[in-house]
Amino acid sequence: METKLIKINLTNKNKVLSIASDLIKKGEVVAFPTETVYGLGANALDENAVKKIFIAKGRPNDNPLIVHISDIKQLNELVEFVPKEAEILIKKYWPGPLTIVMKKSKRVPSCITGGLNTVAIRMPNNTIALGLIKKAGVPIAAPSANSSTKPSPTLANHVLNDLNGKIPLIIDGGKCKVGLESTVLGLSNGKAVLYRPGKITKEELEKIIGEVELPSGQIKVPSSPGMKYKHYSPKAEVILIEAKIDANESKDNFLGNVKKIGLNEDSNLIGVISFTKKIGFKNEFFFNNDVNLYAKNLFFALREFDKRGVEKIIVEGILDEGFGLAVMNRLRKAASKII
Ligand code: AMP
Ligand code: MG
Repeated sequence: METKLIKINLTNKNKVLSIASDLIKKGEVVAFPTETVYGLGANALDENAVKKIFIAKGRPNDNPLIVHISDIKQLNELVEFVPKEAEILIKKYWPGPLTIVMKKSKRVPSCITGGLNTVAIRMPNNTIALGLIKKAGVPIAAPSANSSTKPSPTLANHVLNDLNGKIPLIIDGGKCKVGLESTVLGLSNGKAVLYRPGKITKEELEKIIGEVELPSGQIKVPSSPGMKYKHYSPKAEVILIEAKIDANESKDNFLGNVKKIGLNEDSNLIGVISFTKKIGFKNEFFFNNDVNLYAKNLFFALREFDKRGVEKIIVEGILDEGFGLAVMNRLRKAASKII
């Protein structure tokens, strides 16, 4: 199959969204930008269309998808009921990077939910995504538009690299603003569980709805299936150096640890992601103590190093607080070694 990549702009927006929504209505898949990462979407109410997402990505069938809506009216037909806490959070954060897991209604095909009796729903804060859902007239199931196990795509070209020949259309809407996938919050069984940290932080959520639990890493059957899979892996080996509680200590530690590994700053085969201080490697991304910048460019950096043929990526970890928890969650999954 030929994969078309169309750059969307103010002049061609309506036409592009018509082409894309026609594909969705016909049961095809389309890659589109959201504020978090690029998604690979299909009509959420069409089981055959949804199956094409799993095939294109090589995604395991038991890893459920997020259903994207453009209008709050679509929510009621997808869930059995909307918990009070969800109502409050929806008012504050939708459209935005918060996905809420609720009890599913019978209308939601079980291939979307990996057989679970819950469904994850979000209203994205991106005019292209919202326009596409609206024009298609159906909720759109969409995981990130990467090949399974690869870093999520934050540029249309990332999608093309992974899925060229496997999907008919990629809408190019430029670089994603947030750069990490949405926060996934479970509200289906009377308590709040943070299945995946993201831009909307645990601390922020707790101020509004009280205690938010972290899922236990020890559980045998993950309550959020995405938690058990290998993820975000570039071709290069990722070595993560964890931050210490004291920020200054972490600064010295990173440079010290990189030196201890005995790496050469001029090598084309080494990539470095630094946060507190630029350490002067030839292949280096420096995020200048800015967690938003780190989040926005992390997947880009991992993919860029692959493009440059880097074999080892050394990454400076940050503290598990605020949005930092989301950055560290992705890094720990991408890493083959943690120091
Ligand atoms: P992705 O679509 O790649 O952003 O991944 C969707 C994420 O949402 C994965 O981590 C899933 O495990 C999680 N998710 C989707 N549906 C559910 C659900 N019903 N219960 C718990 N987690 C879910
Ligand atoms: Mg994903």
